[in-house]
Amino acid sequence: MSEQTRVAVSQQQMRQQHQYAQMVRTLLDQKLGPQRYYHIRTYGCQMNVNDSQKLAGYLEQMGYQQTGDETRADLIVFNTCCVRDSAERRIHGHIGQIKALYEQNPDLIVCVCGCMVQQEGAAQALQQRFPFVRVCFGTHNLYAFPQMIFQVLSGQKRARSIIDAPTVAEDVPVVRDGVCAYTTIMYGCDNFCSYCIVPYVRGRERSRDMAQILDELRALRDQGVHEVMLLGQNVDSYGKGIDGASFDKLLEQADQVGIDRIRFMTSHPKDISGRVLEVMANSRHICHQLHLPVQSGSDAILTAMNRRYSAQRYLQIVQQARALMPDIGLTTDIIVGFPGETEADFEQTLDLVRAARFDSAFTFKYSPRRGTKAAQMDNQISAQVKKERIVRLIALQDEITAGVHQQLVGTRQVVLAEGPAARSPGQYAGRIDRGVTVNFKSQTDVTGQLVPVEITQAKRNTVMGQICPQA
Ligand code: SF4
Repeated sequence: MSEQTRVAVSQQQMRQQHQYAQMVRTLLDQKLGPQRYYHIRTYGCQMNVNDSQKLAGYLEQMGYQQTGDETRADLIVFNTCCVRDSAERRIHGHIGQIKALYEQNPDLIVCVCGCMVQQEGAAQALQQRFPFVRVCFGTHNLYAFPQMIFQVLSGQKRARSIIDAPTVAEDVPVVRDGVCAYTTIMYGCDNFCSYCIVPYVRGRERSRDMAQILDELRALRDQGVHEVMLLGQNVDSYGKGIDGASFDKLLEQADQVGIDRIRFMTSHPKDISGRVLEVMANSRHICHQLHLPVQSGSDAILTAMNRRYSAQRYLQIVQQARALMPDIGLTTDIIVGFPGETEADFEQTLDLVRAARFDSAFTFKYSPRRGTKAAQMDNQISAQVKKERIVRLIALQDEITAGVHQQLVGTRQVVLAEGPAARSPGQYAGRIDRGVTVNFKSQTDVTGQLVPVEITQAKRNTVMGQICPQA
């Protein structure tokens, strides 16, 4: 039996879940009538956003409608993240606030799921602290959500289901929102970076079948979707354990589907191949955008992080990518204040940032996660030093980002409009191929359209543009 067969949720199990969804629908039609609402709060990364879209798919199968107002909801889901301690504390605070709603409506079904719950003992502790949380499940059994809702509606006080076995489930309904559709191509991570909790809560790497992914892409194309983001904790490991599958082959075939834009994240410098860069360069639809987390510019810190590449190797990949795609947009993640990071280590990170000239960087102060190796290291860095270093790093990156944006001024770009700009009334926001966000004025609603724009002005986080007259 192949690795993939062992982790796949069977078609029969999925049929059962769809039956549970129908049974919930019937029960609720009798109990609440046709008007019933759900509200989902999603924390963390795009993988969680995609998981929430699947939960929404199931809930709509059960006859719930979405509401942005949690006071109106009959069912509330917290889809949690545990990558940082501060995120966990914030989520606990938000769950605590729901108590008042539950006291007004004891039929309210409160569900908590995702990475935070998958940690050992977390679900039990959570339901002890917040007894009104009736449904709790981890990352591996999202597919069984209808069954858990059915259980609590049939009189069971609580449903709690945390399993250790990683799964791959197909045929989960999805409610997509926004202009970009997410397609998860692989789950989990085998890398065990010493600071990261993800392999413990998302399990070992497993990939979806290539034919299933391509079918999904064709369906999205037929629905008129212009942009798809292929998601995985480590997309370059896609295909491990599946004969003939690899990430470059998947990209090559995805390009043939004909969706206007395909992006992907997250890549790992240890695993990205030259072939992936070549496929990107030669493709018609794979965007010239690469999110390649570097984390540090110091080889000593990279070793302590268990990243398994050097700063020099990282810069070689950047050079290779730029030689093939001079217009590539490169973004990264950087952690400052990792245990043992000296001033000299940090200076090497600044040097790497100067050399790589990222379009933008997500910068983080190191935060220890219980259960990871780095949390036990005894050379932790003080909060004061972390703060001082992140301020310097952000100042440097801001200067570089301003320069990258300035170089775009005067160029013509195609923007996929994502909707009205959040802080600029009368303007629309969207992204160009390399991922930079552009704001521009439009008299008509252009959401979801590919719009030709000339870049007119560079700002710190965005650039401004104006729609080009049609040729
Ligand atoms: S590659 Fe490292 S940082 Fe990324 S999810 Fe895996 S363990 Fe975490």
